[in-house]
Amino acid sequence: MEIYLDANATTPVLPQARDAALSVMADAFGNPSSIHGSGLKARARLDEVRATARRVLGAPTGQLLFTSGATEGIQTAVLSALTALRRRQLAGEALPARLLYGATEHKAVPEALKHWNALLGLDREVVAIPVGQDGRHDLVWLRAHAASAGLVCTMAANNETGVISDLDGIADALRGSGALWLVDGVQALGKLPLQLGERAIDYAPFSGHKLYAPKGIGMLYVREGAPFTPLMAGGGQEGALRSGTENMAGIAALGAVLDALEGGGTFASLSQLLDRRQRLADALREAFPGVVFNAPFDISLPTTLNVSVPGLGAKLLLDLFDAAGLRVSGGSACGAAKAAPSYVLQAMGLPAWRAASAVRLSFGAADADATINEACRRLRACGESLRATCQTPASERVSADATGTSVPQRPDLLTRFTVDGACCYVVTDADSGRCVVVDPLPELTGTLTQWLRCRALTLAAVLDTHSHGDHASSAQALRDALPAQLAEEAWPERVDALGWPLGSEVLALGAHRLSRLAIPGHTADSTAYLLHAGGELLAAFVGDTVMPGALGRSDFTQSAPQAFGPSLKTLERNVGPHGLLLPGHDYDDRFATTLAVECAAQPLLDGVLKGRLSAEAFAIGKGVLEHDLAPTEYQTMACGARVACTRAGERVELDVASLEALLRDRGATPVLVDVREAYEARMSPTEELSPEAVPLSALVNALPRWRALPAHTPVVFFCRSGNRSAQAARALRRLGHDQAWSLAGGLALWPGARAVTTSFDAIAI
Ligand code: PLP
Repeated sequence: MEIYLDANATTPVLPQARDAALSVMADAFGNPSSIHGSGLKARARLDEVRATARRVLGAPTGQLLFTSGATEGIQTAVLSALTALRRRQLAGEALPARLLYGATEHKAVPEALKHWNALLGLDREVVAIPVGQDGRHDLVWLRAHAASAGLVCTMAANNETGVISDLDGIADALRGSGALWLVDGVQALGKLPLQLGERAIDYAPFSGHKLYAPKGIGMLYVREGAPFTPLMAGGGQEGALRSGTENMAGIAALGAVLDALEGGGTFASLSQLLDRRQRLADALREAFPGVVFNAPFDISLPTTLNVSVPGLGAKLLLDLFDAAGLRVSGGSACGAAKAAPSYVLQAMGLPAWRAASAVRLSFGAADADATINEACRRLRACGESLRATCQTPASERVSADATGTSVPQRPDLLTRFTVDGACCYVVTDADSGRCVVVDPLPELTGTLTQWLRCRALTLAAVLDTHSHGDHASSAQALRDALPAQLAEEAWPERVDALGWPLGSEVLALGAHRLSRLAIPGHTADSTAYLLHAGGELLAAFVGDTVMPGALGRSDFTQSAPQAFGPSLKTLERNVGPHGLLLPGHDYDDRFATTLAVECAAQPLLDGVLKGRLSAEAFAIGKGVLEHDLAPTEYQTMACGARVACTRAGERVELDVASLEALLRDRGATPVLVDVREAYEARMSPTEELSPEAVPLSALVNALPRWRALPAHTPVVFFCRSGNRSAQAARALRRLGHDQAWSLAGGLALWPGARAVTTSFDAIAI
């Protein structure tokens, strides 16, 4: 069963609201503007719902319009206020200089302000009201700026943090200023007693789908006497204030919710909600020691928890929760190459890591108490899963899981970590328990320490492939963090500047061996590390010398541009055209490459390896490419001039029906691969698909094996949402296996995926 903890984004529809909407659509479908019986019935229901809304909102006077949602309400309010300002401007009056909005406001507000300000040619300055660390508006600032404001917009409660605004304090700060006042009441509806009629609020928009009504229905309160300009003109509905035939199904559903609010019995009381939040908070603390709550409980909606966990990114937590069937949301936009930190938490002045890794859990006041208990159980199980897979800072060496069964801690030979496109690898020989870290990154010292300690591995070396231009090596920090696990040959006095044991030609890791190869160019000290098992070359760590789609730049002071071409030939002699190259940077999630793949994409490389270009000509050609290199999409220094990925636009998605057909086709025998990380797979196993489990962090181990499959064998990757599996499929295709696919929409769209189930407390139908 899926547990939905994202009520601030939207809620399910209450059964009585669903019934009300269905009955309007099936029977009472009249147009409230018609004067026959059907129309009159619809009109009566419309008037009833409006009357209930007035009581619930404490708004006996003024206008209460039905809208399509809060965004429309916000536009209407802003248009009304700004049109009034424009009229004053046209009449020759000096206008207040600013339009103010709370810095943590939903984007609909500042965007509407900017839009209508520009469209009406008002040219006022649109300024954010600062908030304090507690998320509340800076009232001293507001008082100081109130007189210069034409319109002030402040939300009643914040959607990301649940922080409740001090509306009385704001009213006090605005008193006598003449500014119009918009209060976005979306997250407060049904949760806070707003008593609009008793306040100086001019406009208050609301949205039905945040309180168990369907999407597409909302309300806008307009104080009596507040300026008004219709956003929509037409048939004159809603007293000509909002034209367009009314959304009667939505209005009836909203009416059922408002009836439930008034009648009691459906929504939990404040004390029950506080108790539920406490239980969730306790479960979070137990599951994720060190968790921090990003909003003070005493001034927040009891239904919202915004948390950050040191050392655990939002993406990891979202994947984990999703695997546990807990639907929560990231406090930041994670779609971009680099997850954008939450502007709300940034405005509150919280440390960058908290703004970047925040996760929001929000439940609804009509959710069943048992749902919260189950959510708490799953949160604890998530914590357990992280500990069992050595992911949390708190995990000690794991030997048994919750059921007492021993957990085999046999890491894959190669594990890849990335930070903003930079790659770090751990090579582990599970039999000997010895490992080597290649290109440690400063941001990963804590994670790697934890990872290695939990697995009780002996750290045989910490190697850098070169002296990095974009960051200092954190090799020493890692050695310092693991004194008890550091092999003698890795002691600082026994290694060279790149971490290689002095006087050794080979680094032995059980049955595996690492040897090194000088490949000066990107830097004078650039070195490749070649990993062998028996006589077979498994992979080469080539740093930034060859990256997927790029050659390392050679315009640094520590570069050796003339040596670059000959080094590439040396590399080719040692790894051949098809040896797997593991790069120091991988900006586009291409994972691994080979010289043959890169020659096809990079003429310079092809030229120098095929002997068409001399070392000098190659160096000159590279110099031209590297002139004025722009920073990467992560806003970091580019380590090389990139060529576009030739197959980037190729469709790798396979829909559910096609995969089912493939699985039925006896001749096809597809290889099915689950690329989710171990902590996710533990939470939602997919035995019915009996896939291979190859987490994305270990993908490079399996690439050579899949490349060697017959060309017609489909390899189908899947994950939670289809993102990571698409990366895996593209990586394999680039390496030459054309039958690499990704399950579109991931497990979320797979028919066996958990059903959405909602259960409500004491539903009054
Ligand atoms: N204001 C707040 C505080 C919100 O949370 C939302 C929705 O996320 C909106 C406005 C926009 O509401 P709607 O989706 O109904 O347009």
